[in-house]
Amino acid sequence: MKKHFEITIKFDWCKKCGICYYVCPTGALEKGAMAEPVIANIDKCVGCSMCENLCPDFAIDVKEKDTEKRGVKVGN
Ligand code: SF4
Ligand code: SF4
Repeated sequence: MKKHFEITIKFDWCKKCGICYYVCPTGALEKGAMAEPVIANIDKCVGCSMCENLCPDFAIDVKEKDTEKRGVKVGN
């Protein structure tokens, strides 16, 4: 089952350094007109958290959406 993710960008904290969209391996994040990160295609996000982990300003959160996890057995 495909997992879905939610990305939150705190633009107050973002300094538009571009790290997040340069490291994003799937193109889910792209460079905006003012060099800000844009969530270009959330369906492409694979939840690798590279953007979140490498953002120097802690401006990105990646969370798995749990809507499709319901009914899926986790653990034993
Ligand atoms: S890595 Fe962080 S500070 Fe840099 S552009 Fe992305 S969200 Fe903004
Ligand atoms: S979690 Fe990974 S795939 Fe998703 S937007 Fe961030 S870098 Fe791209």
